[in-house]
Amino acid sequence: AIMLSLRITPFGERKKQRLVVGRDITKIYHLNMIRRDFVANASHELRTPLTVIAGFLEPLIDAPITPDSHRRPLSLMFHQTERMRSIIEDLLTLSRLEMQDSPEAQAPVDVPDELHLILQEAQALSNGQHQFETRIEDDLLLVGHRPELRSAFSNLIFNAVRHTPPGSRIAIGWRHDVEGALFTVEDNGPGIAQEHLPRLTERFYRVDCARSRDSGGTGLGLAIVKHVLNRHDARLLVSSEVGKGSRFSCRFPSGRDMRIDRSDGGGKT
Ligand code: ADP
Repeated sequence: AIMLSLRITPFGERKKQRLVVGRDITKIYHLNMIRRDFVANASHELRTPLTVIAGFLEPLIDAPITPDSHRRPLSLMFHQTERMRSIIEDLLTLSRLEMQDSPEAQAPVDVPDELHLILQEAQALSNGQHQFETRIEDDLLLVGHRPELRSAFSNLIFNAVRHTPPGSRIAIGWRHDVEGALFTVEDNGPGIAQEHLPRLTERFYRVDCARSRDSGGTGLGLAIVKHVLNRHDARLLVSSEVGKGSRFSCRFPSGRDMRIDRSDGGGKT
């Protein structure tokens, strides 16, 4: 079988005819598949050795037999091993998102509930250094895949914590409007220059390499968000101004959003 990419354009007098241009992309498709499989296999193979290394390193840091002068290097080694493990987990997540067609088992997801859980983790990550504000419509659910949605929302919220200085304000919103449902994370941090915005969802793309790497991210967060949203017919919208802050929104089409009645003593229907 060959894969064709088709472009259909009107042509001729009064543009009544159609010109169909087909391009054979079989080779590109196969190369892409090889790349995907390679990344998935390499990540999978690296997982076990790294788990073993981390498992041996961690107890050595505080062990009585460890000379004091070795504690800091050991702890740095452990920290870097953990970073590699996060990168590998994110690469595996991305591979899974690329390989499966669309999320299996789509069901109503209690987004407000998920957001409250993510918020607790974000507060722990922030260590009391950020001010959080929430405006969450408590009865608004979304049809989708729970773990995927959770990872998209948490990536955006954790980014706001990790890429803004202490004292910053982070506002999280979840609401319904005529177009469907809208999730937003807004911060008053350093912002991102316009020229970077189109490339933010590329793998390992970082605005300020050194600073972003120190922030503890893997460089894959927004790539994951983009894939998850595509699989939910949703779009990622980013607006940002240097010195003022950033706003990341996920727009879900109507039809996926649904309201429930929580009035009967908090019971869910
Ligand atoms: P990372 O793991 O580095 O956060 P992401 O893919 O999640 O990778 O984000 C890509 C880059 O976008 C980050 O490295 C950072 O430079 C920038 N970025 C993301 N969110 C924000 C934010 N809220 N404020 C400022 N910069 C951000």
